[in-house]
Order: sequence, then structure tokens, then C-alpha cells
Amino acid sequence: MTAAISPILKTDLFINNEWRPSSTGARFEVINPATEEVIAEVAEASPDDVDAAVKAAKACFESDAWRSLSARQRGALLYRAADLLEERLEEMCRLETLHNGKPLFESKIDVEMTIETLRYYAGWADKIAGNTIPVDGPFFTYTLREPVGVVAAIVPWNFPLNLASWKFAPALAAGCTVVLKPASETPLTALAMADIMQQAGFPPGAFNVVCGGGSTVGAQLVRHPGVDKIAFTGSTAVGKEIMREAASTLKRVTLELGGKSPNIIFADADLKAAVRGAHNGIFYGKGEVCAAGSRLLVERSVHDQVVEELAERARKLVPGDPFDKNTRLGPVVSKKQQEIVLSYIEAGKKEAKLIAGGNPAKVNGKGYYVEATIFDDARPGMKIVDEEIFGPVLAVLTFDDVEEGIELANRTMYGLAAGIWTRDIQKAHRVARAIKAGTVWINTYNFYDAAAPFGGYKQSGFGRELGREALEAYTEVKTVWVGLK
Ligand code: NAD
Repeated sequence: MTAAISPILKTDLFINNEWRPSSTGARFEVINPATEEVIAEVAEASPDDVDAAVKAAKACFESDAWRSLSARQRGALLYRAADLLEERLEEMCRLETLHNGKPLFESKIDVEMTIETLRYYAGWADKIAGNTIPVDGPFFTYTLREPVGVVAAIVPWNFPLNLASWKFAPALAAGCTVVLKPASETPLTALAMADIMQQAGFPPGAFNVVCGGGSTVGAQLVRHPGVDKIAFTGSTAVGKEIMREAASTLKRVTLELGGKSPNIIFADADLKAAVRGAHNGIFYGKGEVCAAGSRLLVERSVHDQVVEELAERARKLVPGDPFDKNTRLGPVVSKKQQEIVLSYIEAGKKEAKLIAGGNPAKVNGKGYYVEATIFDDARPGMKIVDEEIFGPVLAVLTFDDVEEGIELANRTMYGLAAGIWTRDIQKAHRVARAIKAGTVWINTYNFYDAAAPFGGYKQSGFGRELGREALEAYTEVKTVWVGLK
């Protein structure tokens, strides 16, 4: 079955540069959400396997093979991994679409960004430097930036490979070693990446992949005394659990969590662009995007026009086979996720006004699809406004002036991202400052770059990924004093 699905598919655990079945022999099924078929049976890591992966990462971290590599050589390994990934771009995209359900063109954007991220941090490897400090007295005092140690990277299923690279690329550039745990729904591209890392020349133990459940494999990584840092992306509920559990060993933790991001359309905006931005802001990635603009705030005088155009666009967004080049809406990732999204839609039908979608769908009689759905007349206090749905469901709220727009935008426990649509440059910058979120897009939405930091305010987490800022999370600062007299 393996070769028939994809020549790059691997299904065992990757520990110490070896492919190993689980020590218990256990395997779990990976399902294609578009066809509901089993596409792979992946080895499920046992506690012994997790322990072996952490020990391999630790041994590598302390080994000559890793320590004697210069920073520039570590960078060269990452460049090589980027080149190898580029050679396998098409296959990797197909694999991402197979287990996640996202349209193929979206997988291409993801894998291309992964390549960019590898190259970006490859370039950083030999530029991570300390400072000399002008202290009082006869001393030469300087700082070293040293790798934090073994990093456990725990990632969700929505951008499986790309979000993993946001962690393992800066970690390896900084000189850490990595144990990656992908989500059970989408382990295939992480495993294919392990093959690439080995070919690129990373020594045994530098990069390991263990697959399995969050409450088992993930939780063991969080508790394991051999892990120095947890880099987590996922839900706010699990993020809180991880922070509690990591306290007992005082691990370093960075948390990239959920969102309920406001996308604000002012009456003076370029409405055509704003409607397009609102549509892509919620329906790109099937709405399974942490920064999805899932609350659309529209100034009252343009509300009717905006809502009418949005509903028309949503009705034309027909669910389709993710491998068809014309498809713009694939299936959500799993049956469970479809049920969650549909339960929110049912709650929304009781609270607000449904103006598009609202149903499950199938393509060729199969698949966990959900129609592009829009609710109008939404207000704070409603489930569809207050809670992250993580599906193609938009809640439209109305406001009367700038202050009310800002107040509504900030009325959430989350603070991951926001969008602002206006032609008034002063208003745009004023609102950008007033919004409590880690990213604000003005007259655009949902753009990312390896050089631009990304992360949350409030309960969307803390720490930043991407950019120079991400490197801080993978290094410790050591201050060295030299007496000169
Ligand atoms: P999730 O929190 O259920 O799982 C994320 C990962 O954590 C998975 O690998 C899972 O197996 C693991 N996990 C689950 N329980 C665990 C535990 N107790 N200990 C250790 N690991 C555990 O999230 P999900 O459903 O896979 O992903 C969706 C969520 O991720 C959404 O809330 C979304 O907003 C968030 N997300 C955030 C960002 C960001 O950058 N802020 C990006 C993408 C997704």
C-alpha cells in the first residue's frame, strides 16, 4: 500500500536516524478526509519509544558529532534539507493534501514556506551571537548564546509540515536537537521530512519523529526530564495543560494557541478588496487556520452591501476534490472535526441569522466536508462569536464607530491576529495600536513570512515563532566575567 500511495511515504518511528516500528508493535490508522479511506498505518510510539527518542536527542546534543559542528556547518545542513525538500516538492504537497484534505494549491504554499523557513534559519545559524558588556570595574564581560538543549516540538494538524518547520528550523539553527510529535491525523509529512533530514546529513539523534496521541506521547514528552523545552502549537485548552505539566520540571515553554480574530471593515475601505479579504480570511484552509478572521466586524453604513457580496461569494465556494486544481474548499480534517464544526453551526442557527451554507457536504458521495457558512446579526455572548470553531464558519457583527469597533475587536480572550480595512491611514495605524493581538494586517489578511514574527497576546499564548525573535526561545544567555587585574 505504501508505495502505491506515495513513494516518499514512511510509516515507522524515526529515532536516532533509524526507522523503527513501535516497541509494542502498535499502529494507528491515518484517514484521507476526502475519501474516508485508510491511507496508512503508522507506528504508535510507546513510552519506551518516547524515552529512546529523548535519550537519542540528548546523546546527540552532548556528542562531539553535534557539538563540533560549527554554526555555519549547521546552517549548511539546513540549506541542504531545503534543497532536498524542493526536489520532492510535488510529492510532499500530495502527501500533505492526502492526510489533511487541503486543496493541492494550499499544500504548495505550505511546503514552499517550509523551504523558505529552512533557508531563513540556515542563514541565521552563524549569526546567533552574544554581546560585550561595558560593566563597571576591571572586567571583560561578555554573553554567549547557547542552545537550550532537547526541544520537544508538538504540532497540530492544520499546517502539519509548515508549523513543524517553524520550530525545528530555528531549534536546529541554534544548536538544539529535536523530538517532533506531529498530530495523529497528519503524521505523514513529518515522517517524510525525517527521511530528508537524514539524507541532508544531520547526525543520529539531531532530529527524531515520534507519532501517537497527545495525551500519551505528547504528555510524556512534556513530563520527560530529558526534554529542556516544549515548543507547542495547538488549542488553548491543551496549552494550559502543558504549562501546568511542564512546571514540575521547569521546562522552557512557548505556546502558540487558538484565536478568534477580528477582521474589521470600515465604511471608507476599498470594499471589493475588503470582501475578498474577509472571504479568504475565513475560508482559506477550510477555516482551520489559527489566525482565521472568524469574526467579521462591519461598519453599519456598509453592512448590507458587504454581507450580500460575501454571501454570494460563499455560495459559489463549492466543496470539491482537493486534488482538483479548481478546488478552493476541501474537507475538514476528520469526522470528529466535522462534528464539532456542525455542532457550532447548529448553535448558530438558534442564535443568529444564517445567510450562507450551514450544512455538511459530500463530494462523489464521500468526505468530511462543511459548506462555507456565514451568520449575520451575531453578537458577543453567542457561542459562534466567543469560541474558536476552527472550520469554515464566519460570524458577522456590526458596529457604529471606531471606538465601538475597537472595543468589539478586543472583546475576546484571544489575541492572535486582526485585520483592518480602511483607506484612512491615520485610522489604520491608530486601530492597529489599539488592538491586542500579535499580528495586525492592514488592507490585507493571512500573509506570513519566515522573517516576520508570529504569535499571540492574551490566551493565544506567548513566545514568538519566525523571525529573529523565535531564536530567543531556543537559546540561553550565559554571562562570562573575566577579571583583568
Ligand atoms: P490540539 O491542542 O488538540 O493538539 C495539538 C497537538 O498537541 C497535537 O499533536 C496533539 O496530539 C498534542 N496534544 C494533545 N493533548 C496533549 C497533551 N495533553 N500533552 C501534550 N500534547 C498534547 O490542537 P489541534 O486540534 O491539533 O489543532 C487545532 C488548534 O491549534 C486550534 O486551537 C488552533 O487555533 C491551534 N493553532 C494555533 C496556531 C498558532 O500559531 N497560534 C497555529 C495552528 C493551530
